[in-house]
Amino acid sequence: MHRVLVIGGGPAGLSAAETLLRRRGDEIAVTVLTDRAYLGGKAGSWEHPDGRVVENGQHITMGFYKELPALLARAGVSHLGTTASNHGRFIIWEDRDQRAHELHLGASTLRTLIDGFEYTGWTLREKLGFCATIARLAPRVIAGVPEEWDDICLSALCVEYGLPHSLFATNGFRCTRDAQLNYPGEISAYSMLMTIKKAGRDFLTSEAHFPGGGMSRIWWEPVARHIHRLGGRVVRMKRLVGLEHQGMELTGLIIGESQCAEHDDEPCLHGSERPWRGFDEVILAIPPAALAMVLERTPTLAALPALAGAAKLRPVVPLGLHVWHRAMARPGHRTVVAGMAPPLEFVVDNKPFYEEYADDGRFGACLHFVGQEAGYEDMEDEALLHRAMGALRRIPGYEHLDDAGIHSWQVVRNRRAHQRYWNGEPGSLKYKPWPTTPVDRLWLAGDWIRNGFDFPSMESAVHSGTQTAELVLKSLDERPARSRELVAGLRRRAPAPPPARH
Ligand SMILES: Cc1cc2nc3c(=O)[nH]c(=O)nc-3n(C[C@H](O)[C@H](O)[C@H](O)COP(=O)(O)OP(=O)(O)OC[C@H]3O[C@@H](n4cnc5c(N)ncnc54)[C@H](O)[C@@H]3O)c2cc1C
Repeated sequence: MHRVLVIGGGPAGLSAAETLLRRRGDEIAVTVLTDRAYLGGKAGSWEHPDGRVVENGQHITMGFYKELPALLARAGVSHLGTTASNHGRFIIWEDRDQRAHELHLGASTLRTLIDGFEYTGWTLREKLGFCATIARLAPRVIAGVPEEWDDICLSALCVEYGLPHSLFATNGFRCTRDAQLNYPGEISAYSMLMTIKKAGRDFLTSEAHFPGGGMSRIWWEPVARHIHRLGGRVVRMKRLVGLEHQGMELTGLIIGESQCAEHDDEPCLHGSERPWRGFDEVILAIPPAALAMVLERTPTLAALPALAGAAKLRPVVPLGLHVWHRAMARPGHRTVVAGMAPPLEFVVDNKPFYEEYADDGRFGACLHFVGQEAGYEDMEDEALLHRAMGALRRIPGYEHLDDAGIHSWQVVRNRRAHQRYWNGEPGSLKYKPWPTTPVDRLWLAGDWIRNGFDFPSMESAVHSGTQTAELVLKSLDERPARSRELVAGLRRRAPAPPPARH
């Protein structure tokens, strides 16, 4: 049996393990090691001691996601059955007229363009200018987005292609950019256009789907059970802290026992670090900041151009705020509200979506705000809460959610290496590694690994895991031939065996 070790229990690691087992479970033994008790990585969740479910971050799937729903289906989970749709409706607050506007997107690319025209947050001139820009850009995008466009920010490209200047000041434009969870600044034109291209090609609907809460429980645990059924193992609370190598060959891993099952971080248990050498191939499916920390112990590997980029990518710190409120928000309001004051620009009321909350009389609204911490690192949790709630109260249907009615609240700052987020900052593509590395037996997967789909998301993580697993399988197919040649060469050079002793 060939032994493949996958490090990381997020969407990429689980998808890599599942692909290997599904395709060659009879020949390959697969073990997943992950440093938390919960699975799903940044898309995971855990239970607060008082029973409330805490998500690492609000997650939404889009109509063009295909590989994630397919993975879930193989694990016996229905994507549509575990999510609720917003039916293409989004609410955007526009500062310039101090009003909330509804954006309703349809069920096809054409329908979306037509429906987008009804958005009242932009003037007719702006909408016509927007369409003209899209029409000018489309042929370039269809022909292939040039990689040099990674050095240009989206806004600069939009200026070049004639987007009306007034649109840059709108929250409709800002939210489209910031919804990529980037620095609350500019994003790579390449990254954005590759996403649009992918979304356009695989377009099913503009609906957003909201998972029914406790993502680890509803999605990632069933995927782990499926991996077990296929013959694989998922081992928790094991953290990779270093690599062992001889020249360009990976010979071992240094693994320690994690201390913290959930969100917070602590060093591994004192004295628990041990070498782990029982593998033939290793797939690292961990975030860039975590990989950069692991490589610190092996300067030779850290200096390899193929891996050095991990330390150069500038991660961002996603910020989440959960507010459990006694009063009910706008009934039946199943959507995202966007365009609120940074840093927490987006909010979803999960009361109608989460099974746990829907029947819990203690809460009328279960609000989940998301954004980026950059520029607001020194703002106290309490100040963040008041700022976010103040911005929300301007939206019709949420005016009555006063601070007195707050049942409980929690800020989640994803500051640790395993939680930070890489995204398409202009000029960063050249630092993104490929799934194959120059180190023999070492492979990479994850939403930040070059995988042809540059939209850091659960979908691209699942895609990357599958892609890396396929590459490992291909190399295994080629390897016996290489090993046969090697063995034949050694035999030719080997001295004659000594005479047998009696
Ligand atoms: C706040 C927030 C909101 C988001 N919203 C959306 C959304 O709406 N839609 C969407 O599609 N995507 C969203 N994402 C992105 C999505 O969560 C990620 O793209 C996806 O989880 C990446 O998967 P991954 O497997 O590549 O990495 P991760 O999810 O980061 O998984 C990495 C795994 O490796 C483990 N690990 C890390 N270091 C080590 C180590 N040294 N040893 C062992 N194990 C280790 C971690 O514990 C984790 O299990 C959001 C992310 C955040 C943070």
